[in-house]
Amino acid sequence: MTEHILKTPVEYLKGVGTQRADILKKDLGVFTYGDLLEHYPFRYIDRTRFYKIRELHGELPAVQVLGRIVSKEILGEKQTKRLVAQFKDETGSIELVWFQSVKWIDKTIQVGSVYMIFGKPGVFNGRVSVTHPEIEQYQPKAINRGNLTLQPVYSSTEKLKQFNLDSRGLQKIQAHLIDQVIRQVDETLPAYVLAGHKLMSRQRALFNIHFPDNTELLRSAERRLKFDELFFIQLKLLRTKLLRTHKFRGAVFSIVGDKFNTFYNERLPFSLTEAQKRVIKEIRQDTQKGIQMNRLLQGDVGSGKTVVALMMMLLAIDNGFQACMMAPTEILAQQHYLSIKALVGDGLVEVEILTGSTSKKSRKALHERLENGSLHILVGTHALIEDAVQFQNLGLVVIDEQHRFGVEQRAKLWRKNSIPPHVLVMTATPIPRTLAMTLYGDLDVSVIDELPAGRKPIKTVHMYHNQRLRMFGFMREEIAKGRQIYIVYPLIKESEKLDLLYLEAGIEAISNEFPSPLYNISIVHGKLTAKEKSSEMERFVRRQTQIMVATTVIEVGVNVPNASVMIIENAERFGLSQLHQLRGRVGRGAEQSFCILMSGNKLSQDATVRLETMVRTNDGFEIAEIDLQLRGPGNIEGTQQSGVLDLKLADLALDQQILTEARQTVIKALEKDPELKNEENKLLSQYFERKSGGISWDKIS
Ligand code: ADP
Ligand code: MG
Repeated sequence: MTEHILKTPVEYLKGVGTQRADILKKDLGVFTYGDLLEHYPFRYIDRTRFYKIRELHGELPAVQVLGRIVSKEILGEKQTKRLVAQFKDETGSIELVWFQSVKWIDKTIQVGSVYMIFGKPGVFNGRVSVTHPEIEQYQPKAINRGNLTLQPVYSSTEKLKQFNLDSRGLQKIQAHLIDQVIRQVDETLPAYVLAGHKLMSRQRALFNIHFPDNTELLRSAERRLKFDELFFIQLKLLRTKLLRTHKFRGAVFSIVGDKFNTFYNERLPFSLTEAQKRVIKEIRQDTQKGIQMNRLLQGDVGSGKTVVALMMMLLAIDNGFQACMMAPTEILAQQHYLSIKALVGDGLVEVEILTGSTSKKSRKALHERLENGSLHILVGTHALIEDAVQFQNLGLVVIDEQHRFGVEQRAKLWRKNSIPPHVLVMTATPIPRTLAMTLYGDLDVSVIDELPAGRKPIKTVHMYHNQRLRMFGFMREEIAKGRQIYIVYPLIKESEKLDLLYLEAGIEAISNEFPSPLYNISIVHGKLTAKEKSSEMERFVRRQTQIMVATTVIEVGVNVPNASVMIIENAERFGLSQLHQLRGRVGRGAEQSFCILMSGNKLSQDATVRLETMVRTNDGFEIAEIDLQLRGPGNIEGTQQSGVLDLKLADLALDQQILTEARQTVIKALEKDPELKNEENKLLSQYFERKSGGISWDKIS
């Protein structure tokens, strides 16, 4: 097969050449014709609308105006030499100014004639003017030529502009490109999909995304290309899942045995919520099929995911398997270890912990017990997935707060046993539906959508720094009632000096306000060793301290039910999901809990929305949606490896409808034709052949 024309290096395109091609590659990542074709306009200028001069002001983008040149003169010398023309319509007049090509423009424009100008209005000396407008003699008939009514605007760079590849220049080469290749662009979607969803052909869509004849065609072109992007992400995910379920056998947990029952009947300190029961059922069903489970367990902070995970681990043990639980931080691993040990450690099962700070000696003993099967549950950090850690028969892996773990690491776990262990991924960061479908589209999802009974919604208030005395007063009252308090400082980068200064100043102020021996304070931040951190935590857990001053290391997972106040300093600097996570550290006991968001007086618009959202709602899913709208998917943790960032047109915050349609279409197609063997799905199987040179088992894990 000859190389497809879209793979042609961009330097061969008319109007490009090697020099410009080099910059296109470096600045825009455009190497081939195909890349250039996918360098879509980021907006369009409506050239059907004319502005009146009275309507012009400095905030407008480039606009079109129709008017008459009533005078012109060349002013200044050398550097300041310029052509200034008065341009007038029935509503007023403005100045048009040219600093370049002065002579030539002076020759082309005539006083008294009507022109159509196009440019960005600016304000100079209090008057509106347009510098270097495009100017064209007005030809009444030409306006409706229907040609370039929507002018594409392409992103460009300084370097490209120096080589005449500004938006206009790019438009020119795009036009050459389209002329040359559009008829050779292949269709990617099967005919029945196009027909079923009223999508235009790929050729037509690519033409219209660059040179739309009207807004309607532009919208249709966008919809078609967005559908394309989302469809193939879903196809990859769901096909991977399908292949995996065919390829991997899974451990069968057929019996509910002694460990599970003893825990459930004798140790469980509360009754499970309906949601917890439902989720346990879903997981149990999954683990009886003989197929490897990959399940995402979503549940808002405090919804009780840990106990669900523990019960599933006990089930694994009842069936002769081992289990492990992986957490993103040492503190969190420590916490899980302690709470699991407290619940089942006294003789029911053998539990151990493995982290980066586990000594060599204990490691060795650990490895031995893992390999001879006498250790049932191993809790730990990333250290768990090191190759040296081998199990006798690992049946279940629980990953807490998954968004910090990549797909790669998940895959590494599958290889830890001859039968790949079941994987249960837990996340407390509620993820908007669209993002979940894309990030975790290959996982089955269970949701705990209910908090344990008796929880009072956390009251959240926003205070400014100058209300600090009131805050201290409130803290004293709560401590007098026997409650404990978190104060969190942003330390986004541990190296940031200013953050450290804030933290230190904060600690000093708190120590002055709450002096020992009346009060005791725990301090946890990233500069401490793991050991120091956990001993500070420990003091707080044991109620030896009333206040815990910390940086965001406590963000995930920390569970101290008696702590009922969360104070977040410089709250305007945290993202929404982080704020929600932090707030979730309180409200875990029966007492009324509070969250106080402290901020300065000057807030950006986004920060205002974030703080208002926090004050208004406790609903993690609502918060996640707003977070996605504010930040875009690229900034949400875990998106890096998902393909979400490769999206050129689709926007997960806005295109939920298209995503759902695309996913449904893929699901139906794979149900009917799992191997994509039917003639009607030929384009889809070709897609995989193109991508990977055939479907290979190795490539999918
Ligand atoms: P998360 O889902 O955020 O990980 P945890 O598993 O840490 O939440 O649970 C939060 C708190 O709620 C813990 O103290 C836990 O013991 C408690 N809890 C969990 N399930 C229930 C329940 N059904 N009833 C009462 N308390 C529960
Ligand atoms: Mg948790």
